[in-house]
Amino acid sequence: MDLVYESLYIGGKWVAPASARAIEVVSASTEEVIGRVPEAVEADIDAAVAAARAAFDDPVGWSSWEPGERAAVMERLAVALDARAGEIARRVSSQNGLPISIANAVEGGFPQLILRYYAGLIRTAVLDEARDGLLGGKVRVRRTPVGVVGAIVPWNLPMTLAAFKLGPALAAGCTLVLKPSPGTVLDAQLFAEAVDEAGFPPGVVNVVQSGREGGAHLVSHPGVDKVAFTGSTAAGRQIAETCGRLLRPVTLELGGKSAAIVLDDADLTANPQDLFLSTMVNNGQTCHLTTRILAPASRYDEIVETFTGFAASLAVGDALDPATQIGPLASAAQRERVEGYIAKGLAEGARLTTGGGRPAGQSRGWFVEPTVFADVDNHSTIAREEIFGPVLSIIKYETDEEAIAIANDSPYGLGGTVWTTDPARGQAVASRIRTGTIGVNTYTVDPAAPFGGVKDSGLGRELGPEGLTAYQALQTMHLPS
Ligand code: NAD
Repeated sequence: MDLVYESLYIGGKWVAPASARAIEVVSASTEEVIGRVPEAVEADIDAAVAAARAAFDDPVGWSSWEPGERAAVMERLAVALDARAGEIARRVSSQNGLPISIANAVEGGFPQLILRYYAGLIRTAVLDEARDGLLGGKVRVRRTPVGVVGAIVPWNLPMTLAAFKLGPALAAGCTLVLKPSPGTVLDAQLFAEAVDEAGFPPGVVNVVQSGREGGAHLVSHPGVDKVAFTGSTAAGRQIAETCGRLLRPVTLELGGKSAAIVLDDADLTANPQDLFLSTMVNNGQTCHLTTRILAPASRYDEIVETFTGFAASLAVGDALDPATQIGPLASAAQRERVEGYIAKGLAEGARLTTGGGRPAGQSRGWFVEPTVFADVDNHSTIAREEIFGPVLSIIKYETDEEAIAIANDSPYGLGGTVWTTDPARGQAVASRIRTGTIGVNTYTVDPAAPFGGVKDSGLGRELGPEGLTAYQALQTMHLPS
């Protein structure tokens, strides 16, 4: 075993954990144990919240600093992450199967982009605005940090999704307790080292590797002022219920089952990389992927053939191999779940055009072949539920109106794409889809633009200037004229 850790990062120090419990990490590609970190139990989480609370409540502490002073520390964190980018990407890739070429680009770089973006934003943000009241007095409207944040992230893009929360929270002046998923705890240790090197005041950022129970403890903790969660819709509902009872602000980034609407004039050969990134990236383990492909009846057979050929052409292999496009799924349980959906698709009458099994030549690792189903009914299980694996469902439509109706007939509303050679037509269709984000002939997540979902895909937005407001509370101060 390579990476064995004995301490947790709480209150600006590496501290001994309260219990002997540990989280063991297994490589998704080789099934070998590659590391171990202490598991934070309730006492550790209490200590982390207390440290974040003390750091926030300090009258001359982080939350009272000038925005430019906070921005400088955030930029130092970005530099410290730059220095560890390759190793962070390698650890994420080993743990969850994210192909290393993508891990380098996303997990190795996106967090720094977000930190630098919010550092820049907070330097020029208007945090204190003077207004004339209508009743003769003056008014100051202050944007103050919301307080101690409990940030809970999943395993699929752990560092990036942590940065979605850290960037705006730190810029606003909040302090945090970050709870990574038990599936990705080794990258979190490197992240804590970078936090330590950046020189935050003690307690501003704390990291507690823990499971579901630890997450639930953090969500309901009396010392936490706001919860920011990315993960499954099922867990999001439970968290929302707790936060509702406590009247605690919460941001929820949940699951998806987005649609790619291929219009009858589309040229699918124009952007093969965009098509890959928007349908299959991270082995299908990405929340916004368009896993329902809506194909016009007039070009149905050709589009089925295109997606079948595209999926069959993807290079499947060890996640650490730079040539790999599709790595293993993150865990044995995840593979079992995906295989269950493939069996369900067959049982419900969908037509398998490629994949469906485990790739030949991979004796170890939790691999599933890139899989395409044609003739899928939008009401079948594989069209309604999030599979979180490399499985696409092709659904036939007759008219643009029908395509829009099918795209909207989903419990989710997170991503989406429209493919067409007519950009105006594409945007007109895109604007009628009930979803938080959508692309025309491309799809991306940009730090400067709000990201999030509607319906079962979540509440609130991360990223962009809009993402900052989730970490700010308004205080109105009335003054005589
Ligand atoms: P998960 O919901 O099982 O776990 C996510 C995190 O929450 C983990 O850290 C877990 O330990 C914790 N957790 C689980 N139950 C909890 C509870 N009741 N209270 C507090 N914490 C709890 O999800 P996962 O399997 O780790 O991740 C996959 C899911 O995440 C997919 O549904 C995917 O769509 C979603 N996701 C959403 C986005 C987005 O931005 N919308 C991005 C990535 C992943």
